[in-house]
Amino acid sequence: MERESAEERLESEIGRLLLSEEAIRQRVKALGADIRTAYSSTPFTLLGLLNGSLLFTADLLRELPPETEVLFWRVQSYRGTVSTGFPEGLEAERGDFAGRAVLVVDDILDSGCTLLAVEKRLRALGACKVDYCVLLAKRRARTAGAPVPRWIGFEIPDRFVIGYGLDYEGRYRGLRSIRVLAEETVLPEK
Ligand code: 5GP
Ligand code: MG
Ligand code: MG
Repeated sequence: MERESAEERLESEIGRLLLSEEAIRQRVKALGADIRTAYSSTPFTLLGLLNGSLLFTADLLRELPPETEVLFWRVQSYRGTVSTGFPEGLEAERGDFAGRAVLVVDDILDSGCTLLAVEKRLRALGACKVDYCVLLAKRRARTAGAPVPRWIGFEIPDRFVIGYGLDYEGRYRGLRSIRVLAEETVLPEK
């Protein structure tokens, strides 16, 4: 009963359920199994993009072999519910990627400009093989040259979503489900 009313409150105040905690859990497990098989004979670094992939990377990591290395880069391109088209923060990121295979993990693929910028940065640092795993991919056109992820958790409609790491103005990252942000919750542009 209590759970039901909590769900109703989330639905009306935050937004419509798109992916439940259970659906996400099962998909992350399946992605982990696929990735383990694909990399069974290749040592690789898991590279999570903060802040959005915080929970996804942590959950995926626990499906991978114990020796898997994990690193995080911080990159930002969204203001509110709108992409600026210019991912910021990558110039500051370094690391010894020379000759390394890297699996980049992000929460969501939208225009693709984030992954394109990450690809360029990793290649400049010497990474020899770069794959991408995104939990969500919006059905829409991508920036020319954007990498195509080897793994996609779910294809979703082109709407602004929150939860399971995805935020709106810094909020809702801790939600266990993924939701389409309710229109009423969106603040007028400053
Ligand atoms: P792209 O560079 O592909 O346009 O956008 C990728 C980044 O924008 C994601 O890593 C994520 O941080 C942010 N983003 C794109 N779409 C959404 C969305 O629907 N909700 C949230 N919270 N962030 C998004
Ligand atoms: Mg992001
Ligand atoms: Mg964000």
